[in-house]
Amino acid sequence: MSRLWYVRPLGRAPRGAPHRRESLTPTVKRALKTAAWRDCGHRCVYCGTGMPLAEATLDHVHPMAHGGRSQPGNLVVACAPCNRRKGDLHPDEFFARWPAAAENFMRYARAVHRSFKRNARRAVSLAFAEAA
Ligand SMILES: [Zn+2]
Repeated sequence: MSRLWYVRPLGRAPRGAPHRRESLTPTVKRALKTAAWRDCGHRCVYCGTGMPLAEATLDHVHPMAHGGRSQPGNLVVACAPCNRRKGDLHPDEFFARWPAAAENFMRYARAVHRSFKRNARRAVSLAFAEAA
């Protein structure tokens, strides 16, 4: 029998424990933000407005409050008003409410997970179907 069998699973959160918050050092956070800003074409992915790095805010597409991680694929940059509007909304909910933001997201959020873009596209077609 493999010895691995006896290894106790370490680092598992006890049942009912809150999701462990990641703590990013300022250096890591700045690097993630710069990379996201570059990948998003120096624009807010929700309204499409171009902005300098200093004005960009880092946005978790899948919010941290719902377990989203600070990892490439889940990070975009947004302007402050859009980031506030999105808040802790799940992306599906946000895109359903703001189809125009979903359209911009499809165009500018180039480095995000494909499933986010697929859902954004669905929100846009649903909005068109309802408008028709
Ligand atoms: Zn914006």
